[in-house]
Amino acid sequence: MRRKRSAKVIATLGPGTSTEEMIADLFEAGADVFRLNFSHGSQEDHRWRYHTVRALEEKRHRPVGVLLDLQGPKLRVGEFNGGEVELKPGQAFRLDLKDEIGDKHRASLLHPEVFEALESDTELLLDDGRIRLKVTDRGPDFADTEVVTGGPLSDHKGVNLPSTVLDLSSLTEKDLDDLRFGLELGVDWVALSFVQRPEDIAHARKLIAGRAGVMSKLEKPAALDHLDEIINLSDAVMVARGDLGVEVPPEKVPALQKRIVFKCRAAGKPVVVATQMLDSMVHAPTPTRAEASDVATAIYDGADAVMLSAETAVGNYPVEAVMMMDRIIQQVEKDPHYRRMLETHRYAPEATAADAITAAARQVAQTISASVIVTFSSTGSTTLRCARERPVVPILGLTSRADTARKLALAWGVHSVQTEDLQTFRDMVEVAIRVAKHEEFADVGDPLVITAGVPFGTPGATNILRIAWVE
Ligand code: PGA
Ligand code: MN
Repeated sequence: MRRKRSAKVIATLGPGTSTEEMIADLFEAGADVFRLNFSHGSQEDHRWRYHTVRALEEKRHRPVGVLLDLQGPKLRVGEFNGGEVELKPGQAFRLDLKDEIGDKHRASLLHPEVFEALESDTELLLDDGRIRLKVTDRGPDFADTEVVTGGPLSDHKGVNLPSTVLDLSSLTEKDLDDLRFGLELGVDWVALSFVQRPEDIAHARKLIAGRAGVMSKLEKPAALDHLDEIINLSDAVMVARGDLGVEVPPEKVPALQKRIVFKCRAAGKPVVVATQMLDSMVHAPTPTRAEASDVATAIYDGADAVMLSAETAVGNYPVEAVMMMDRIIQQVEKDPHYRRMLETHRYAPEATAADAITAAARQVAQTISASVIVTFSSTGSTTLRCARERPVVPILGLTSRADTARKLALAWGVHSVQTEDLQTFRDMVEVAIRVAKHEEFADVGDPLVITAGVPFGTPGATNILRIAWVE
């Protein structure tokens, strides 16, 4: 089974997609990676989903990526008498550390770090920015505010503080527990929410210790001040437009999206564009034209993957949403303008043997119209360098490690396959030909371009470029 596109699709699993049939249908429709969103659901829910994905993987003989998305320090107000209050512009409203039911004069906000960081005139955004409060007075355990934009406020709504760097670790107690749980399960990627500083990622990397790839979600303006360093420390990045679009004005999101995508592509780090991509498909079987165009824009920019959240987690048309993304991506990738745009952002290889070989492989493959570039890589690092080249021909990423094959499910243009441990280069050529034929990438007489590192098992030691013909 091979997909007819290079960019990948991530589908979030939720209450709407938690049967074996549904998960299999999402995979058939085009989901390459499944996201377990730990902001919702119990560990037991996620355990079941995880094992269901792995069973599917076994049945379909294709590696599938699993992305654990940690909730992070998402700030929320407490509960209200009657579940909801109405805030009027100009009125006073207090937030405090009292663990008591709120009313139209006050709500609990049980995060002491917030009150330490607030200053007069700081703006707080509630419920995805629908409600705006301005601080008039503050103490160590309260903040008095004036309502700037009012509206209904209900239990547990989110609170964003765009202009403030909070003295909060990006990993809460819950996150640490979910992380232990997920790593034990064997997830391939871990997404860190609300990272603010490079130290947040360094800290998470230490805990994860190579057991999963680290994906930083960019959704705080503070993180954008350290963009290069954050990309450098991460294995992948997500443009998390949901919270980002609350913390910065929506009109700034498109340019930020492009800046992040181009920087990640230059660095060769997989980049995901996420949130509200086909939002109206939560309720309708077809997207708006603007949504179709939004998905297409991410693909034209050269993103590795696009993501569905509520559309597949709780929507009424989860399979249709994945199929729609699949079709949009295929259409864009057929457009000659797409290729021209990718070529406009071609990045020079770095001065390493692996990059030199990989850049040459792309050129050779294009010149001789090879059917595929085959990369041998244990950690997947050389395969990602090949994806960075955005070659015209597909990449067959061969690896002896199951975790690498799964991780690569996220990467642009890569069809990963797990092979046996190979000892000699002659074996590699033989396996490359066999797998290329079996996976329908090549026929008898077709040329393949193969890259590998000899001696084997030294990550990043790619030093061979070979052309082989399928017999
Ligand atoms: P979330 O992250 O869905 O976990 O909030 C994505 C985003 O904010 O866009
Ligand atoms: Mn978010």
